[in-house]
Amino acid sequence: DPRLKAISEAIRVVPHFPKQGIMFQDITTLLLDHKAFKDAVDIFVDRYRDMDISVVAGVEARGFIFGPSIALAIGAKFVPLRKPKKLPGEVICEAYELEYGTDCLEMHVEAAQPGERVLIIDDLVATGGTLSAAIRLLERVGAEVVECACVIGLPEFKVMLFKFMVEDTLQLSLS
Ligand code: IMP
Repeated sequence: DPRLKAISEAIRVVPHFPKQGIMFQDITTLLLDHKAFKDAVDIFVDRYRDMDISVVAGVEARGFIFGPSIALAIGAKFVPLRKPKKLPGEVICEAYELEYGTDCLEMHVEAAQPGERVLIIDDLVATGGTLSAAIRLLERVGAEVVECACVIGLPEFKVMLFKFMVEDTLQLSLS
């Protein structure tokens, strides 16, 4: 896809942020480039518009930047998957591993119904641990996760459209 090169180039890599040795992929520079930002959203919309998806679930925080635009364009609702203690209603929680320790993602229990087809969105996948927790949340309420999609895939830095099937996500997190 000829659009991917410009999208890739619009993403800034910041060495040693937030700490020494990390090459931080910064999508805020993509958001400043209207064409590249729109192209990134459109690529997802083109892929998912005819897949009978009724829920787009976005991972806090950068999944909130891409997810709602995709949801509106494909006629789906948007469900935020949030860090602990942010959601006011009844929630379910799934833990995932960090480099040091663990964190949790939470979702309102009534946000998705059994059998609903779900697309999960985040900005970046590295180990797949975060997305695996997101998948578990949706599956606990009986929803079907059709696919997860990210703008950036690691460790292949700057792979702009990294998408994989649910099974691959789980393998990734187990490896
Ligand atoms: P994983 O759980 O190892 O796949 O890490 C993915 C999560 O870490 C996503 O929610 C990302 O937003 C975040 N993340 C890790 N590295 C970066 C980065 O370089 N830029 C932006 N987000 C990152």
